[in-house]
Amino acid sequence: MYKKFWDEKFETMNDDAMKTFQLEKLKETVKWVYDRIPFYKKAFDTHGVKPSDLQRLEDISKFPFTMKTDLRDNYPFGLCAVPMSEVVRIHASSGTTGKPITGPYTAEDLDQWTECMARGLWAQEVRPDSVLQNAYGMGLFTGGLGFLQGAIRVGCAVVPSGAGMTERQIMLIQDFGTSALCCTPSYCLTIIEKAEKMGIDLKKTSLRTGHFGAEPWSVEMRNDIEGRGGIHAYEHYGLTELMGPGVSFTCEYYQIHINEDHVYPEIVDPGTLEPVPEGEEGELVFTALQRRAMPMIRYRTRDICSLKKERCKCGRTLITMDKILGRSDDMMIISGVNVFPSQVETVLMEFAEVEPQYQIRLSKKGYIDHITVETELKKHMYEQSKENIDNISRRISERIHQIIGINVPVTIVPSETIERSIGKAKRIIDER
Ligand code: ADP
Ligand code: ZN
Repeated sequence: MYKKFWDEKFETMNDDAMKTFQLEKLKETVKWVYDRIPFYKKAFDTHGVKPSDLQRLEDISKFPFTMKTDLRDNYPFGLCAVPMSEVVRIHASSGTTGKPITGPYTAEDLDQWTECMARGLWAQEVRPDSVLQNAYGMGLFTGGLGFLQGAIRVGCAVVPSGAGMTERQIMLIQDFGTSALCCTPSYCLTIIEKAEKMGIDLKKTSLRTGHFGAEPWSVEMRNDIEGRGGIHAYEHYGLTELMGPGVSFTCEYYQIHINEDHVYPEIVDPGTLEPVPEGEEGELVFTALQRRAMPMIRYRTRDICSLKKERCKCGRTLITMDKILGRSDDMMIISGVNVFPSQVETVLMEFAEVEPQYQIRLSKKGYIDHITVETELKKHMYEQSKENIDNISRRISERIHQIIGINVPVTIVPSETIERSIGKAKRIIDER
C-alpha cells in the first residue's frame, strides 16, 4: 500500500506552522538577495525598506515588486545570487512574450524543484508502477526536464518522448502501456484528434491520467479532453522565474494547491498594486522562499487568478488558487470590456458541433480595431449546407454576446486549417 501524500509534513501542515515556516524563510530570502544582488539592494534602498523590516508575513507588502522587465534588463545573470561555480543548470522561458527569461539553479534548487514535481505527480496517481510518457518539450523549456525529474523521483517508468511526432506518441502509448501522459492541454487535443483519425480509441488503451499545464485552458476544455481521452485530466502550473512547473498542482478534486512552503503567493490589483481581499481576482505575485540561485521577490506573474484558503477534501492544507483566467498580456479590451481568450474558449466549448480549435484574430480597419473568432467544426459538420454552417457561427456569436457582452463575428474556417499545437497554443493572432 502506497503512502497517501508525497510529503505529508508540508502538504498537511496546519496554518500556524506554515505561517511560521514561511516567515522564517522569507526573512532569510530577503536578506539573501539584499546582501548578494545589487539590483535588490538598490530596489530596497530606493523603496526605503531593509530586510529587518520584515517582522510579520504581512510586511512583505512593504517590499518592491519584481517584473519581467527587471529580468530582461538584467539578462542573463544579473539577478543571480551565486557564482557560476554553484550553478548546476540554466533553463530559459519559452519566450512566449519576448526575450527569454533565464532560470539558473543550484544543486539544492534543483532538488527542491524535483520534490515539488514529485509531490504534484504523486497527488495525481503517479506511482512506481506507472508508465509516464513525457511529451513536454525537452530542453531549455522547464516543462520537459521538470516533469522528467519529478517522475524519476517518484520512481515510475519514464518515456521521454518529447513534444511532436504525434503518430509516434500514439504508438508509444499503445506499445509501452503508457498510463500517464504529460504535455500541454492543447497538445493532448492534437494527440486525441490524431488518434481518432487513425481509428484508435484512446479510451481503450492503458492511458489513465493526463498531467497538463503551461497554458490556460478552460474547465470545458478539460471535460472534453477527459471524455475523449478517457482520462482524469490533472493540472500543473508554474513559470520559469519561480522554478518552472511545480509551483502548484491539482489534487483529485481539481483544486490547484500551491506549494506554499516554496513560493509565497499574493494577489494584487494590477492597477493599484494593492493586495485584494481573499477570493477576489487579481494578479498573482510570488516570492521564492527557499531558492538560492535566483530567488524572486514579489514577482508579478501577470497571470490573473484568485486564492482560496479552504479545507480541501483531499486532506491537503496547502492554499489553493483558481484556474488561471489568462495572462494580463493576453487580455483584450473590446468595446470597453476586458476579455481573455479562455472566456471565448468556454463559450465555444458549449457547442457540440465545434472542434475545440480556435484563434482570435485582431486587425485594424482604418483606425478601428477589429476582432474575429475563427474556429472549426467537427469533420462531419462540414457536409452540411452553407446555410446551416452560417447558422452555427451566428449562434456562437450570439452566445458570446450573451455571456461576455461583446459583439464578435465568428468565422467557421475549413477543417484543420488552424495550426495544431505541440506546445503552447497560440490563441491570438495580432495583425494590427
Ligand atoms: P513563457 O512566458 O515564455 O510562456 P514559461 O514557459 O515560464 O514562459 O511559462 C509560464 C507561464 O505559462 C505562466 O506565467 C502562465 O502564464 C502559463 N501557465 C503555466 N501553467 C499554466 C496553467 N496551468 N494554466 C494557465 N497558464 C499556465
Ligand atoms: Zn485538494
